Order: sequence, then structure tokens, then C-alpha cells
Amino acid sequence: MLFSTKFSIEQIYHLMKKKVRHVIGISGGKDSGALGIYLKDKYPSLDVEYYFTDTGKELQETYNLIKNLESYLGKTVNKLEAANKSNEDPFDHYYKLFGGYLPSSNARWCTKKLKLEPFENYVGDDYVISYVGIRGDEDREGYISKKPNIQSIFPFRRNIWSEDVIAKVLNNANIKLILGYYKSTVDADKFQRIEEIVIEPISVKFLQVQKLNALLDLGIKEFNKVVYQFIKEKTDYPLAHTDEFPLIDNEDILVRDDIFRILRESGVGVPEYYEKIKFEVDGKVGEYARSRSGCYFCFFQQKIEWVWLLENHPEKFKLATKYENEKEGFTWNQHESLKDLAHPNRVAQIKRDFLNRKEKEKSAKSPYLIDILDDTESGSCISCFI
Ligand code: SF4
Repeated sequence: MLFSTKFSIEQIYHLMKKKVRHVIGISGGKDSGALGIYLKDKYPSLDVEYYFTDTGKELQETYNLIKNLESYLGKTVNKLEAANKSNEDPFDHYYKLFGGYLPSSNARWCTKKLKLEPFENYVGDDYVISYVGIRGDEDREGYISKKPNIQSIFPFRRNIWSEDVIAKVLNNANIKLILGYYKSTVDADKFQRIEEIVIEPISVKFLQVQKLNALLDLGIKEFNKVVYQFIKEKTDYPLAHTDEFPLIDNEDILVRDDIFRILRESGVGVPEYYEKIKFEVDGKVGEYARSRSGCYFCFFQQKIEWVWLLENHPEKFKLATKYENEKEGFTWNQHESLKDLAHPNRVAQIKRDFLNRKEKEKSAKSPYLIDILDDTESGSCISCFI
């Protein structure tokens, strides 16, 4: 049967166009939580989906944060689970499947199986913009997935684009094209200054990052407009399939203090494990906290965080120790078992070392211990901790 309604070519094109999904992964950490709040408040027109990949080994504080976020966002945070047909929780399912080998920084099957794969299954082949909460005061790149239908955007940074996009836009082969885009975007005065930068090829004397910063210095919005135009005309990134992208006008740069402010002012609150707790050693009083979300036994934890777990969640510490006892020679920490770490003399030593380190740290003025703790974040897992 023929359709009686007549559509124009343009209407048919729009009907056939695949929808582009906008998603944020909520890890239970401060940055992704704040990003959810920030995007809802600043870009209410974006229809954002929220998801949380549950390993089955999270702390209760993570679920509390998600519940508070759901109330604020007025939306469900979709819970994704790897091996959701298994009788066991996702971590235990794969732990057994991998023959009882604990994950480590060199063998991170947990991130792949428990975080990335459920996310990739969730989005399927849809075009997806994945917003990532790497802050403006962090010097690290992050990715959620290498699948071509998933594009990462970093709204808290001055440069919202991922490394692969920047490499394409600033490629020397595209100088002429980019210059043309700028010409139609900025006024003649500004164009002269921008032209000098655009025509200088990237080389060992003029690195990509220098060129990027020089262009951003001359206008974040203008740069974003040029990148968006390039994406739309020359690539098949998910953003190429959008009609508009409000974040190209975004000039905000958000740092750690902004994250805590957003969480507090929204009423969602800071995840409880970031709050400092007092401890005493050799008559000296110190303070400790946890610096990250994710599994309670995560091997990225620092020693003082294990002591925090021992003293504040002893039942979880006991469970973490149980895994070590199941297979000879496997420990969460390199060179030290949790049984040895839990010895009172060792606990006192770890606290002493931490206090000494803290005294040396210039950033100790911060109200949050993560200033001291999270210097290892860069080597860890953005899917679990952001
Ligand atoms: S939090 Fe740590 S242990 Fe858990 S999935 Fe992430 S990297 Fe693995």
C-alpha cells in the first residue's frame, strides 16, 4: 500500500536519521556526579541518559549518591550489570571464570568485563555522545570506548574535544580547510591573528598542544565552532549526525573546588567516603578518607585507604582478605598481603608514613584529602573513578 501522506526529501531524511544519544556514566565518584548536575542545570534541552555499571562490589556510599542524584535529576540512573543472567554478582562471576585470578594494574580484566562491555552493550550501534567529567585542573586524557559510534566530550575542560578529534582537525593536511572555516566564523581583525597560527604547520618546534592552546587563547567558542563544522562536514563521528550542539558555546573551566560546590549546593551532597575522619598515631592526630569510588578492594588504592577500609568498613576488609586466601600468591597489593597490612604495627607505620607525606605536601591546606590521595588517579581507571 502506498503512503497517502506526502513527505519532502528533507522530511524523509530526518525520519531516517538515527537518533544521537547523550549519556553520562555515573561512577559514584564526585566528578561524574557533578557533571550530571551541571549538564542538567546548564543544558536542560539535552536529553541525557544516565547509567551506572555495577560491579557488585561497591560501597554503600556509592548507592546513596546515586539515589540522591536520581532525586535531583528527576531521572533514573540505569543500572548496568555484566553477566546479568548469572547467579553471582558481576565481579564474582568473572573472577571464577578467570580461574580465581585477581585483577591488577597489569591484568585489568575487571574494567573491560565489568565496566566497558556492559556500557558498549547498552549503547549498541547507536550514535552516542558520552560526557566525561575530567576536570579543567587535570592533565590527562580519557576514553570510555574505542568504538567509532561513541564520541567522548569533556565539558569541564577548556578543550572539550578528545585527542583523536584534535589530531584530525589540526593535521597539517587540513590547514587550508580550517583557515576557510575560521574566515567564515570570525571578523577580519581577529582572523589576521588566527591565520598566523593556523598556517604554521605542526612540527617538533610547534607541537600540536601548542597550536591547540594558541587557538583556544584566541577564542574558545570560535575554535569549537570550527571543530564542529569539521566534524559535520568531514567525519562520521556521532556529532556529525546532530543539527546543533549547545556545548560549542561553553567556555566554562571547572576545577576541584567547583565540583564540591556543585555537589553541595545542589543538595545531592559529596559522597561520604571523601569526608575526612580523624585517626591517632604516636600521639599525633591525622585525617584520612577514601579518594575514589569503585570496588571496595580496588588494587589502585593507596595503603592509607586500605587502613581506612580496615577501620571504617571492617566487614569489607575481611571480604577483600578472603579473596587473597583463595589462591596462593595472589594479593591486591604488590608485595604485601592484607593480613600483613592489617597487623597493628604495620597499620601504625602506614599512618606515620602518611602523616609525614602530608606534612610535606603543599596542598595540605585543601579541605579534602584527595588533594594528597588522588595523585595516583591519572594512572587509574576513568570508568570506575570519575
Ligand atoms: S574499581 Fe578497581 S577493581 Fe573495580 S573494576 Fe575498577 S579498576 Fe577494577
